[in-house]
Amino acid sequence: MEKVLITGITGQDGAYLAKTLIDKGYDVYGAVRRGSTPKKGRLEFLNILDKVTYVPLEITEYSNVHRTIANLKPQYIYNLAAQSFVQDSFIHPLLTSAINFDGVQNILEAINITGLDCKMYQASTSEMYGDVLSDPQDENTPFNPLSPYAVSKCAAHHIVRNYRVAYGMNCSNGILFNHESEMRGREFVTRKITSQMAELSKGRDHPIQLGNFNSVRDWGYAPDFVEAMELIIDSNEPNDFVVATNTVHSVREFFEISASIAGFNPIFEGSDINEKCVDKNTGKILCEVNKEFFRPSDVVYLRGDYTKINTKLGWKPKTSFPDLVEAMTKHDIDAANGKINSYGI
Ligand code: NDP
Ligand code: GDP
Repeated sequence: MEKVLITGITGQDGAYLAKTLIDKGYDVYGAVRRGSTPKKGRLEFLNILDKVTYVPLEITEYSNVHRTIANLKPQYIYNLAAQSFVQDSFIHPLLTSAINFDGVQNILEAINITGLDCKMYQASTSEMYGDVLSDPQDENTPFNPLSPYAVSKCAAHHIVRNYRVAYGMNCSNGILFNHESEMRGREFVTRKITSQMAELSKGRDHPIQLGNFNSVRDWGYAPDFVEAMELIIDSNEPNDFVVATNTVHSVREFFEISASIAGFNPIFEGSDINEKCVDKNTGKILCEVNKEFFRPSDVVYLRGDYTKINTKLGWKPKTSFPDLVEAMTKHDIDAANGKINSYGI
């Protein structure tokens, strides 16, 4: 069986990717860093907790990365580990850089120094386009990052390309646009909305506090996107690919659909900092703007052109935006009603 090492296996994408690869017969090793609380909830939710072999890995520690790769000798490494939350990257920019850039270089160096014959996938991001310089964004669009997170991912993206050119290593970047799911972290705006919408539907009074309602994203579904990762790492030649849906929606639109699915009749009122969303049937305030969730600099528009991966590798998104919002909202409502156990996800 071919060995696959997934860093970030406890995260949203790592869990879905592990399930996909296990189902296809790969021998999956999951890199996990120690924590004081259990963090394998997503793997448990997908019923693969016992099908992964776990290895302790702190990606910022070169000796740990080197020994792990030298001992395991995987044929594939998916590097999904990251400090992945843009807002937090303004709070700890140096840590973000250490994980998101140094961590990637640690992996590349370890592969290079050990001489391992291995394919590597790096989780690049649409955040690199930042204040976008063309629309839609594709593999040729220049990067214009707006956060320490995006800058660290740009550096990682370029170092992956450099090891490919300099040493002929088989490493690829997937430039993934935002992708969400029932297992998305609850600090990201989509899951923040759906998890707290479920609470509102159960009678919570306090409105959801949000930042910029006008921000627009190209939101896809994570299980569709991990399929693209596998195609990228398996492609004949290492390369860089945009993975997106080429459709755009605002935070406000996401909220409206989610609220409707939860049984509300949402109407937005007011403007700027005073804007809020009210349930027309009851007058209940569903959400309001809170400056705490504004960012020092924010990416307000992203739209990805996935023509290259579609043409070369045959990938396209399967899940529509309304279906995504519906699946996430219904999942969180079911969890709030005790119909499913969403502990740890
Ligand atoms: P998550 O935040 O859900 O998962 C991040 C993973 O990285 C977790 O398993 C986390 O472990 C691990 N990790 C963080 N720091 C370290 C460290 N120092 N050493 C070892 N492991 C670490 O992210 P997603 O699954 O959503 O995203 C996967 C990757 O794709 C990330 O690199 C992200 O930046 C990138 N990406 C994601 C997009 C999205 O929309 N989801 C879009 C574009 C790119 P722990 O459980 O211990 O915290
Ligand atoms: P990101 O694209 O990786 O930063 O994903 P997020 O889900 O964190 O943010 C997407 C967009 O939603 C950004 O432009 C945020 O500014 C905007 N947004 C508006 N309100 C919120 C909020 O309360 N939380 C988060 N996380 N984002 C918000």
